[in-house]
Amino acid sequence: MQNFGYARATSVDDAVAAADPALAFLAGGTELLNWLRLGIASPARILDITRIPSLDLIATLPGGGLRIGALNTLNAVAGHAAVVRDYPVLAEAIAKAASAQLRNLATIGGNLLQKTRCPYFRAEEATPCNKRVPGSGCAAYHGVNDKHAIFGWSEQCVATQPSDPAVALAALDAIVLVRGARGERRVAARAFHRLPGDDPTRETELQPGELITAIELPAPAPHSAYLKIRERESYEYATVSAAVTLTFDRKAIAQARIALGSVALRPWRLDEAEHALVGLDPASDATRVAIAAAFAAARPLAHNAHKVPLACNAVIRLVRDIGRRA
Ligand SMILES: Cc1cc2nc3c(=O)[nH]c(=O)nc-3n(C[C@H](O)[C@H](O)[C@H](O)COP(=O)(O)OP(=O)(O)OC[C@H]3O[C@@H](n4cnc5c(N)ncnc54)[C@H](O)[C@@H]3O)c2cc1C
Ligand code: SF4
Repeated sequence: MQNFGYARATSVDDAVAAADPALAFLAGGTELLNWLRLGIASPARILDITRIPSLDLIATLPGGGLRIGALNTLNAVAGHAAVVRDYPVLAEAIAKAASAQLRNLATIGGNLLQKTRCPYFRAEEATPCNKRVPGSGCAAYHGVNDKHAIFGWSEQCVATQPSDPAVALAALDAIVLVRGARGERRVAARAFHRLPGDDPTRETELQPGELITAIELPAPAPHSAYLKIRERESYEYATVSAAVTLTFDRKAIAQARIALGSVALRPWRLDEAEHALVGLDPASDATRVAIAAAFAAARPLAHNAHKVPLACNAVIRLVRDIGRRA
């Protein structure tokens, strides 16, 4: 780990004005400090943003919806009464992330910017990895890739994005609010993370120097839930996960939003299945068939074909369970 300078920002404007390629923002530090230790990042200066006022507020929006400041800890978000009542999918996704101690420190903004858990990327010794060293190759593509992508990958990178909250936010059609030197921008959560394409080093739509200030949730989604499937039931990243929000017209599905986690470098929305589910009974065979059809587009790698039925069954179960409770 190399030496670095440390300073605290007192306002969003200060933080944005100070930003340059040699500076990293520090929120909970639960990701950034690992990067410093592993040599994934080596900023010359660190700017602590945790004392910026107002970035830890949670407020209802005038037309309905909720604005969550980026510096809220994961536990603060998951424990907020409006989140528990109106956005259970988000509360459940957060409750399944990391450990209670980490959730007390980790922020919702920092969570969206966590990097892949690909073991080649996080290796302490030099390993071919286009994300770490552009042009060096992808050790996972021909190597051990059981935890890697089944959708949206390229030969340059087959990694997945591991955030649990990001999957819920994609299914909620949340908006990420970012502020940079040119002012504020709104980015759809479902498109915030980038697929690898030819350049796996560009991970999100955040431009250099931009700060995430808040996340906006649209109208409440009380009929929603999250399912995380993992090798052990606590303190483990997802093998696959799914977030589903439904609305109903009597007993039939009126609208469905479905996002998968740990299957691509971004939360993966199943748009086709969402359209096909409209008008169906959540527990019907037709629903099961429509969901399964969406997985015909999956492209598993040598070691991760098991992710396809796992993710498919997770969605089928969520849709059925939400329907039963509605
Ligand atoms: C052992 C372990 C297990 C974990 N398990 C899970 C899990 O199961 N599921 C899951 O979802 N996550 C998991 N995590 C990830 C954890 O949730 C993240 O590390 C955490 O949310 C990051 O938030 P932070 O505030 O600590 O970010 P930091 O470490 O402070 O920052 C991370 C990055 O985001 C940038 N950043 C932070 N805030 C902002 C902002 N507002 N605007 C712009 N840039 C910003 C920083 O500059 C840095 O680049 C785990 C982490 C660990 C260490
Ligand atoms: S999958 Fe991506 S992160 Fe992993 S080794 Fe390949 S290029 Fe690196």
